[in-house]
Amino acid sequence: MNTLSSLPSVDRLLHHPLAGPLIDDHGHRAVTQSARDVLSALRHTTAGSGPLPDTDEILQRMAASLRKKARPTLTRVLNLTGTILHTNLGRAALPPEAMEAISRIAAGASNLEYDLATGLRGDRDDHVESVLTELTGAEAATVVNNNAAAVLLTLNTLAQGKEVPVSRGELVEIGGSFRIPEIMEKSGCTLIEIGATNRTHLADYEKAINVRTGLLMKVHTSNYEIQGFTASVQDQDIATLAREKDLPFVTDLGSGTLLDLSRWGLPHEPTAGEAITAGASIVTFSGDKLLGGPQAGIIIGERTLIEAIKSNPLKRALRVDKMTMAALFEVLKLYRNPDTLDTALPTLRMLSRSLDDIVETAGTLLPPFVTALQGKAVVSIIETQCQIGSGSLPLDLLPSRALCVEPVTTRKRDTTLRGIAAAFRRLPVPVIGRIHDGRLLFDLRTLDDPSVLTGQLGELVLP
Ligand SMILES: *Cc1c(COP(=O)(O)O)cnc(C)c1O
Repeated sequence: MNTLSSLPSVDRLLHHPLAGPLIDDHGHRAVTQSARDVLSALRHTTAGSGPLPDTDEILQRMAASLRKKARPTLTRVLNLTGTILHTNLGRAALPPEAMEAISRIAAGASNLEYDLATGLRGDRDDHVESVLTELTGAEAATVVNNNAAAVLLTLNTLAQGKEVPVSRGELVEIGGSFRIPEIMEKSGCTLIEIGATNRTHLADYEKAINVRTGLLMKVHTSNYEIQGFTASVQDQDIATLAREKDLPFVTDLGSGTLLDLSRWGLPHEPTAGEAITAGASIVTFSGDKLLGGPQAGIIIGERTLIEAIKSNPLKRALRVDKMTMAALFEVLKLYRNPDTLDTALPTLRMLSRSLDDIVETAGTLLPPFVTALQGKAVVSIIETQCQIGSGSLPLDLLPSRALCVEPVTTRKRDTTLRGIAAAFRRLPVPVIGRIHDGRLLFDLRTLDDPSVLTGQLGELVLP
């Protein structure tokens, strides 16, 4: 009998023997809801047409929908895109010490804002301030949710209702939603564009300063570089001018790091300590870019200014939680021993990884890839260049190797290629590559443990 009235009731479904295990796994409430959802979908889609599923089939649909809802959508993936610090893929991988600290602190109460010596209220910044000042030479430090928040809070505290001159060459956009001019407007200060896109001189800063000026600001142009006939003013010179005029000098480093990366054969990226030495009153930078830690915005500098920033009510809205503090401390602690940093910190391990090591990984992976894609695609190893990403060292690329997948078919190559890329994204640990010039590339610099990849190749369902 093929009428909707023959569908079982919710109650009958819940008393069916197959419903017992579902209730054990997901609870009575969720199973009831899924019974209602599946029945309602059947009433709407199959009204009058085609055979209705039997009760067993309905329970299987309920089971599938319950499994799907129980799976978190936020899941681990393998980043083989060739961009090491990929914002859309969560940026820096944390070291084990940081993850252990997170689970230790997350599990219960902690002295986040409690002074164990006096039994009085404490300050959450105290947990990282001394290691930050030791590593940078700054007097004081505070931490907020990300570097965008650090810039917003600094400008709002020190320059609300005032003017801030910034070089036209530094009005950067970072990933669409963060533009220096827009964040300045939201912080309540007025941007005064000075100089030209390619050249800005000290005289441009001097001319822009008046009684309404709140501070001088330098933005590290971290995701592009202007080349050719260019001039920018040295930090030291802006700092001297700011001191003469009794104005704070703020440097937004973006992807500032704490140690000179040239020590590991990488290009030099300005460090937070160098910015302080050059005379910045305040320096802001991200926790999860080159630093290799949790998402955070770090603000360091002169104590009186940091105190003002911390007492801004906006700080409360932008502060970080105990898990971030716990992880950040562990990452900063690793910087105290530069000799072991390139093995202990995953971001630096990936950045400084030798080409020989990557070539070896590529050699190990080629045979299982050839087998997995047999008849569908040709796999080879090609030379690539990795981007550091997140606006760090934009022009500096790191040599790497990728597995290169090219469909055997000559018809609908693009569709086939996209289908293969999608199949890799459907694996239990989704694998994210990049399509370039009609080829699917899996860059291997960021693959720490090849067994995670080889272990699931058998589950690949190709189009
Ligand atoms: C990345 C970046 C920011 C924003 O930092 P988030 O941590 O992503 O919020 C701000 N300024 C500069 C110069 C940057 O490079």
